[in-house]
Amino acid sequence: MFNSDILQQFSDIQTPFYFYDMDLLSKSLYNLKLVSEKYGYIVHYALKANSNDRTLETVKNQGFGADCVSGNEVKKAVEIGFDAEKIVFAGVGKSDSEINFAIDNSIFGFNCESIEEIEIINELASKKNKKVSVSLRLNPDIDALTHNYLTTGLSENKFGIPLVFLDNVIFKMKNLTNVELIGLHFHIGSQIRSLKPYIKLCDKINQIQEELFENHNIKLKHINLGGGLGINYENPDNELVPDYESFFDTINKYLNVNNNQQIHFELGRSVVGQMGSLISKVLYIKNGVEKKFVILDAGMTDLIRPALYGSVHKIENISKKNIPSKICKYDVVGPVCESSDVFASQMELAETQRGDLLAIRSAGAYGEIMVSEYNLRNKPLAVYSDEMILKNKMKIAF
Ligand SMILES: *Cc1c(COP(=O)(O)O)cnc(C)c1O
Repeated sequence: MFNSDILQQFSDIQTPFYFYDMDLLSKSLYNLKLVSEKYGYIVHYALKANSNDRTLETVKNQGFGADCVSGNEVKKAVEIGFDAEKIVFAGVGKSDSEINFAIDNSIFGFNCESIEEIEIINELASKKNKKVSVSLRLNPDIDALTHNYLTTGLSENKFGIPLVFLDNVIFKMKNLTNVELIGLHFHIGSQIRSLKPYIKLCDKINQIQEELFENHNIKLKHINLGGGLGINYENPDNELVPDYESFFDTINKYLNVNNNQQIHFELGRSVVGQMGSLISKVLYIKNGVEKKFVILDAGMTDLIRPALYGSVHKIENISKKNIPSKICKYDVVGPVCESSDVFASQMELAETQRGDLLAIRSAGAYGEIMVSEYNLRNKPLAVYSDEMILKNKMKIAF
């Protein structure tokens, strides 16, 4: 990921910055396209993981759709040129203006989380004399076996329509003339590293589909299983491209699909997670009473995941990459005035000095997108591998 040519160029760039390996993004997308097409699955990229223009253009050019969770994300997807027919809009709280914007742009459909929301969409659509496609986001009450803040499909979570309300929602929708029920939607969580929750989800969906047919004589055209496939944060180099093959093979094996039914996914993290690293410079090695602290010029304002979810990112001293060094243990921390501004505790690194560059790996998803300016800090730059190489080639040419 960091060859000597790239490392040399890093020294000219203001830290901290995000570095994106665009080759790796292309590889992930190529693999995703190959295995999703094998089963005819439709994939919508979840913009909220990383919505930089370069990322979105690359995703769009491969023909994927867009999964949006705010009006501005819908707007962004439209501006980048995603096919409106491939844009879905989810979220537990959509405002009237967001709904209107999505209706005006004739997106594929809304993933709805309550009958209250569907009634408003119906009302707004009727004012425009339009009929809007709606899928019901159901809460299947499945434990995604991930971080508490990343689990969304348990009955105690705010997300989705509880299964026990399904009959009632369908009954009420019969009176709504400007919405059409086209499918079911699920999203059970994020950073899911086991396929077991997905097997459970398939079983649940099979059961729900049977009941829908028995009780209401309904066969829906679309089933959307959401996203959530996790990545290897501990050892990113072992799994730079996600194992989409096992994932889709498992779904194909366990999910019963009706004739002409279309199966959708909304993947975010797995597509972009490994392509990004946060590159930061060491300001000081501070000796504590019992520990050594590496104090970086990047903080939780640049990458909030460790502070927000206690998540682990592999950290490498890339300045010492090709230099044999002693391995030492450090707490790696940022400069922000919060005790939670810690990237890692007792992380093993090559012996580190002021001025060294550290790469915080697997930061392509939910990294730059969550940047804040707390403490009036600057926002980190985004640097793309192909632009660097291009720049370098130009240098050689002239
Ligand atoms: C966040 C989200 C996704 C993407 O989740 P990943 O874990 O990044 O794959 C998909 N669908 C919905 C509704 C989401 O909220």
